[in-house]
Amino acid sequence: MTKRAVRAHDGWVVCLGELLIDFVSMHHGSRLADATSFVRAAGGAPANVAVALARLGCPAAFIGKTGADEFGHFLRETLRGNGVDVSGIVSRAGAPTALAFVSLSKEGERDFLFYRNPCADALLRPTEVRKRSFNRGRIFHFGSISLIQEPSRSATLHAIEMAREKGLLISYDPNLRPPLWPSLATARRWILMGLRQADIVKMSEEEVRFLGGNGPIAHAVEQLRFPHQLFVVSLGAQGCYYRSPRHSGAVPAFRMRAVDTTGAGDAFVAGMLCGILAATHAKRKLDDLAPAELNSILRFANACGGLATQMRGAIPALPTRRDVERLLRTSGQSRY
Ligand code: ADP
Repeated sequence: MTKRAVRAHDGWVVCLGELLIDFVSMHHGSRLADATSFVRAAGGAPANVAVALARLGCPAAFIGKTGADEFGHFLRETLRGNGVDVSGIVSRAGAPTALAFVSLSKEGERDFLFYRNPCADALLRPTEVRKRSFNRGRIFHFGSISLIQEPSRSATLHAIEMAREKGLLISYDPNLRPPLWPSLATARRWILMGLRQADIVKMSEEEVRFLGGNGPIAHAVEQLRFPHQLFVVSLGAQGCYYRSPRHSGAVPAFRMRAVDTTGAGDAFVAGMLCGILAATHAKRKLDDLAPAELNSILRFANACGGLATQMRGAIPALPTRRDVERLLRTSGQSRY
């Protein structure tokens, strides 16, 4: 089994998608309508994944668009300050940086209100995605928010095409947000289109059900997956289930008392991609990963996701490699 930390020459993960400001309610357990004070935080799932990767010591780059405004500047600096390559971020006047207001239930679950019509990240154009962004990449990661509107939909499809041409693995976490789509039928159609493009898929159980996967989770995944994919379903406090081209299994989560689950899925994705980068070096393919390796990669991912539930907010809660290794060491796990 591969037991090595990821190194710069293992290649980069290139993330593309929304980059926005989350205003998180300071009133834990109250509805958005009752919240009167909010904390500003950098947000956007693919951006969180990029920061989570950098925290784990995995080289990460981000492609996206902000408004030419103070919030856009703050977002770029937050990513740069966390070690993400931000040369693929475009800032343009014309539409403001997107905002989302978020409140947390007593159980740490989220309630969202979005301000993004129009917004800068949805205006990313295919011509603003540069080929050189993929030069050092080995994995390209995207979500479904950038598939909702044009021109960011075409920009995302163009990026997938360039990533494929350059031989990158394609990773996808749809992050379903129903209020952002014109209809649920449209959401389903485009999210499924994203699924067809991917080699590595991470979904929540809710997303699997939304797309029409019925019955026990293993059966539901069989209904949705394509044969070449590594398809992983994150199951919150229960850990995750995976189906690779040749194997399947469940990997239990670490026992944690969740404070705030924001960013747990993104930390999980980053941990998984970091593990895949390390395990597929020297031309090893996803198909080559044995059950013990998959188990080890996903335990690492579970540790990342679990640790991200221990603090409020997404980015502040994303663990470092040292945090993850400490948790794995105390429970006797291998490292990536
Ligand atoms: P998403 O935010 O995408 O729905 P999940 O809530 O499933 O993702 O969380 C992602 C991962 O984070 C889980 O697979 C698990 O490893 C970890 N995690 C989430 N919630 C908990 C929890 N309460 N206890 C331990 N680990 C958790």
